Amino acid sequence: MAADVTRPTNVLESALRQLDDAAALIDLDPDVHAKLSKPRRALTVSIPTHMDDGSVQVFTGFRVQHNMDRGPCKGGIRYHPCVTLEEVTALAMWMTWKCAVVNIPYGGGKGGVICDPHAMSDRELEDLTRRFVSELIEIIGPDRDIPAPDVNTDQRIMGWVMDTYSMQMGYSVPAIVTGKPIAIGGSLGRAKATGRGIVFVTREALKTRAIPIEGARVALQGFGKVGSAFAEIICDLGAKLVAVSDVSGGVFNDGGLSVSDLRAYTLEHEVIEGFGGGEPITNAELLALECDVLVPAALENVLTAENAGDVRARVVVEGANGPTTPEAHHVLVDRDVFVVPDILANAGGVTVSYFEWCQGIQKLFWSEREVDRRLEGVMVNAFHEVHECARRLNTDMRNAAMALAVERVAGAIAARGACA
Ligand code: GLU
Repeated sequence: MAADVTRPTNVLESALRQLDDAAALIDLDPDVHAKLSKPRRALTVSIPTHMDDGSVQVFTGFRVQHNMDRGPCKGGIRYHPCVTLEEVTALAMWMTWKCAVVNIPYGGGKGGVICDPHAMSDRELEDLTRRFVSELIEIIGPDRDIPAPDVNTDQRIMGWVMDTYSMQMGYSVPAIVTGKPIAIGGSLGRAKATGRGIVFVTREALKTRAIPIEGARVALQGFGKVGSAFAEIICDLGAKLVAVSDVSGGVFNDGGLSVSDLRAYTLEHEVIEGFGGGEPITNAELLALECDVLVPAALENVLTAENAGDVRARVVVEGANGPTTPEAHHVLVDRDVFVVPDILANAGGVTVSYFEWCQGIQKLFWSEREVDRRLEGVMVNAFHEVHECARRLNTDMRNAAMALAVERVAGAIAARGACA
């Protein structure tokens, strides 16, 4: 699949504005505010990689550790041609808030490598991954910083992360990484956890607007790991997927699209373009569709000041990290669209990563039912805590989630007596 190379990268600015808004709302200590505005540690590395044609290509990779006051850093590694240090820093900061919103004992981290994985062979990707992990070895660890999958990385890549780290230590360290294959200590339920978590919060959000999930019309941007799992699970609950898109474009069917047909088609063709189960639509048309729920589950900055006024969904659930710019967020809230922010909506992935880490450390594994049941408990509880916080502070769900998260991190800093 061709990589999307057009998106802007001002996400760090957005993340800092969100922090400023939350700080004002909770009257945050200025020293703590200053500390939380910067990452604790940011590492840039060069990754010489043997290519199949015999040449050596030097890639650039990043790992940013934003905060570890509540526990080790946690967050994925993305492979993308447009990754920047600023973007990874914003994503690491969002991980800190995400872990705090669902109240799991982690701080935030994120990694990225500037590369186009779709243009690389499996062997090249393995070489790149192992060299990247070797460069990070001093700063990662099961009690320091635990990577996971993110955009364009998957359980196979996490298997190489686990193996490279374990070879350095001389013994198996399953808790060094999450989202890894079941055969080496991965958790049942992890693969679909982000999508399942989005379904739980969508269900709760629809209740606040008295919209039954049965028959609810859903438009989805992104049909990758997260989007496809979300689509399958929400349709099982009776919702109707009326539109879906990816970088190639989208498809619309007022009577509902078949998720299994879409899956089969994208497995074969990699993209949605050409899928015959509906009429073709553009990404811009999908975002402006008349529907109950819009789920942007692809990349950052898709809802902007220019197109937020076109959104006709009653509920927006942010499956991706940072899909809505601060300007767009205000447009949506002013138009009374109920927005479930990313740090709450897509926290199911890191929540089951936490379950995987706990299982790895205890060497005691849970059934898939147990994982899903606990995930539901965490997501529904977090949704209602944020909703209650929004009521208490008389604000929207994003500001409330941020306020709750920043309050928890600030509370940890205060409890440790750490200097700000
Ligand atoms: N990459 C996912 C996220 O953005 C999962 C992170 C994790 O499991 O650590 O939340």
